[in-house]
Amino acid sequence: ADKKVVEWKYTTCGYCSTGCSIHVGLDKDGNAVATQGVADADVNRGKLCIKGIFEHELFEAPGRGNKPLMRQRPYEDEFQETDWDTALDHMGSEIQRIQNTYGKDSFAIISTGQLLTEEFYTLGKLARGCIGSNNYDGNTTLCMASAVSGYKRSFGSDGPPGCYDDFDHTECLIAWGSNLPEQHPIIYWRLKEALEKRKFPLIVVDPRVTMLAQFADMHLPITPGTDLVLMNSLMHVILAEGLEDRDYINAHTKGIEDVEACVKDYDPITASKICGIDEDTIRNVARLYANAGAAMSIWTMGINQSTHGSDGVVGINSLNLITGNIGKPGGTSLSITGQCNAMGTREWSSCSGLPGYRVLEKPEHRKEIAEFWGIDEEFFPKKRGLTETDIFPAIETGQIKGLWLVATNPMTSMPNTARIRKTLEKLDFLVIQDAYADVETTHYAHMYLPAAVWAEKEGCFTNTERRINIVRQVTQPKGDSKPDFWIFKELAKRFPNGQKIHFPETPEGAFEEMKQLSKGDKRTLDISGMSHDLIEKSRGIQWPFREGELEKVDDAQENGVKGNSRLYTDGVFQTPDGKANLIPLPFINNNEVPDDEYPFWMNSGRVVEHFHTRTRTGKLGNLNKFSPTPYMEMNPDAAAELGIQHQSYVRIVSRRGDAVVMVQTTQRVPRNMVFIPFHFHDCVNRVSLGLLDPHSRQPAFKQCAVRIEKV
Ligand code: SF4
Repeated sequence: ADKKVVEWKYTTCGYCSTGCSIHVGLDKDGNAVATQGVADADVNRGKLCIKGIFEHELFEAPGRGNKPLMRQRPYEDEFQETDWDTALDHMGSEIQRIQNTYGKDSFAIISTGQLLTEEFYTLGKLARGCIGSNNYDGNTTLCMASAVSGYKRSFGSDGPPGCYDDFDHTECLIAWGSNLPEQHPIIYWRLKEALEKRKFPLIVVDPRVTMLAQFADMHLPITPGTDLVLMNSLMHVILAEGLEDRDYINAHTKGIEDVEACVKDYDPITASKICGIDEDTIRNVARLYANAGAAMSIWTMGINQSTHGSDGVVGINSLNLITGNIGKPGGTSLSITGQCNAMGTREWSSCSGLPGYRVLEKPEHRKEIAEFWGIDEEFFPKKRGLTETDIFPAIETGQIKGLWLVATNPMTSMPNTARIRKTLEKLDFLVIQDAYADVETTHYAHMYLPAAVWAEKEGCFTNTERRINIVRQVTQPKGDSKPDFWIFKELAKRFPNGQKIHFPETPEGAFEEMKQLSKGDKRTLDISGMSHDLIEKSRGIQWPFREGELEKVDDAQENGVKGNSRLYTDGVFQTPDGKANLIPLPFINNNEVPDDEYPFWMNSGRVVEHFHTRTRTGKLGNLNKFSPTPYMEMNPDAAAELGIQHQSYVRIVSRRGDAVVMVQTTQRVPRNMVFIPFHFHDCVNRVSLGLLDPHSRQPAFKQCAVRIEKV
């Protein structure tokens, strides 16, 4: 492919949250024909994973939408092509008809972690400032909501305090429910590189023998859903043996007495019986972590997708706080985010509040944003509305009549899809906005809006370590598809407040507004010193990066700037008194657990070749070759007991539904567990339960009870 490339253009990968810088190679006709990692980018240093290597193929992948489509009755009528003006006029009037008939909140919006940050900001302006429904959320409720909630409860604000560079300084690392080689391959490579230079213990907590577990010094195959018990027991040992950092606790935290009282009940002997990790291992890990000098924890969906995901995040934060491991090199609590811009939506989309980590509950935040946008602050609700996982039940009860889905595909991604199917059928008006017209949920839609994909448009992503990087447009949108930014600002014109609020014409204009809104002495999320050009030159900048910081960097013009790698380096947190919260977390077992009728745990996760519901990767031959179909990992002893052969087909059955999958017998899973990749339609989420975390409303995708039947 290199031979055909006449120009390389800089951009940022649009799949996972690692945030790799990519050069896209264009041929003489301007077609994207190759990619390569950007050598001087700090994140990936010239490397890409298999998804990045074939990312240029997605521009021409089958199934792209070309024209807006409309129809009266889903399934019964064929879609008819229309022009953008007609489509947006109709959409604007349908939203207002529904709101005028059933109330403002009867129209709901669910977006994604895939848009560019400027698009999130603009959608937030439209949703909060023009449409005015409080039922606006993102699909990040399915992946990162527990991390957000846990950070807020511990530190008073969202925002991961650490960075990849911490791998180069840590003396002990625990990975909780995180399988980097498949989920975030380039972060894994950074970790491996750090370990090759300097040995430190890598401890993996995961019920399955994942690729990362195979690489670890210690693998703790925990009983699903019991991570709080292990965390409490680690803190029990640390406090009982006097290994805590008392100076840090006294100076920078509050609530230690409550935590001490709670963890007393979790001595290693008692904990071992619940979480399945032997008592000596618990003691050893506690001592390793507390005595390391600099210790860090990372986690992904193994913690977040749980009935107590938010508590799990708080537990990790508390473990780090009591050992003085926040805000120092190698000592941190780092949530490894899922989607390329899950961070951007948390920061600027207004899904759970207002832009720039502001919340609806604070009158001063409502006032600030209303004044900046030039609207009446009474237009804003005074508290957060429904999350994605609560919007669907509200459709069932008739409270919500209209829904707009932006780059998200609940017919594959939500738990218990049989119920979601029935729910979508109840809607008066469903709009799908996506780059691909053939996403499964479009089957239920009244309207489809074709969006430009990834580097057909321009704006920023924020990665796992708070690094803002730029997605440069490298090619034109296909057919009559439009950047999401354009769709949002044009739809805004159909609402009365759309005449009052200024919507910038370019993503750079939106970025300038965000800079204004981010300024402030005490704000961590301050981007006022950045610009699109400086971000590209720097290959990404970590926030906060304040106005005036640029001038302090001598070689900024040649080499760009780095920003700030860590939060809370001064031990001052975003709580009213500046102290971090230590919160007791008693364990309550509220999972659906295996029994005689459904004797296996079902676990789910990613494979390296695919991303989310495969709307993109499922179209790319080079990725599908490696991972064409769903499969189920099953322990060989359990398979033999049921007379099931390797590579035979079985039916996996839960109380919600069933799916047929091919068996791969492997020792990766224990005898009482099966594992299925979550990407495939009509598969794992026909079976999953999705009980919700009470704080984050995130579903427990990874834990439910199933039985296996031969077919
Ligand atoms: Fe893209 Fe993530 Fe792969 Fe990097 S690791 S190339 S960001 S999918």
